[in-house]
Amino acid sequence: MGKNTLQWLGHSTFLVNTARGTKILIDPWITGNPACPVEKEDLSALDIILITHDHGDHMGEDVPFFASTGDPEILVQPEVLAKLSADGVEGGTGMNIGGTATARGVEVTMVQAHHSSGVGSPCGYIITTEDGKKVYHAGDTGIFATMGTLGDLYELDVALLPTGSHFVMDDRQAAHAVELLRPKTAIPMHFGTFPVLTETADEFVRLVEQGGSGAKTKVLRPGDEMEF
Ligand SMILES: [Zn+2]
Repeated sequence: MGKNTLQWLGHSTFLVNTARGTKILIDPWITGNPACPVEKEDLSALDIILITHDHGDHMGEDVPFFASTGDPEILVQPEVLAKLSADGVEGGTGMNIGGTATARGVEVTMVQAHHSSGVGSPCGYIITTEDGKKVYHAGDTGIFATMGTLGDLYELDVALLPTGSHFVMDDRQAAHAVELLRPKTAIPMHFGTFPVLTETADEFVRLVEQGGSGAKTKVLRPGDEMEF
């Protein structure tokens, strides 16, 4: 059996490959993403697509391509699904905050996020792989106290947290979020993509190390892959 891996494709876009071979793309901003090292054609046979909200730097424009070149299960809010189906995407399953859906043996739990969106409410996801590993993708959000509840309810192996400020948490909030969530590993995202965002996650790393969570930080470069 292989290992669970996740690859940062820049900004908030991640590809999770489970040990059982399930490919999950989160926030599929490939075309137009200045930090993304791959083309949409490089991502074939996706099994699951998750979209935290319908802003262009998260939903992107490639979902119709992925839906027509494969048979991915798309797990999003009903309003987001309606928007995709207006763009010609067939299938998909609507779900909402608090709920868990199982697709291809992977459990996907939708959780809250505090942000804005065109349709639906922004959300985050907790993915539980077939062998029980848990990855939290926070989407775009400011800090919220019930991240502590998520930390109580789920033993997170990995937390993917936005740190770039301006539209999302800054380093200070994101580092405190790590203390609430208590993941084994915290990975910053949504920084360095465009000028208004912070350029690095150095301060995030420093603050997490100073804090008492015991979480490790791992700063990826776009294209980097790690096992979890
Ligand atoms: Zn957004």
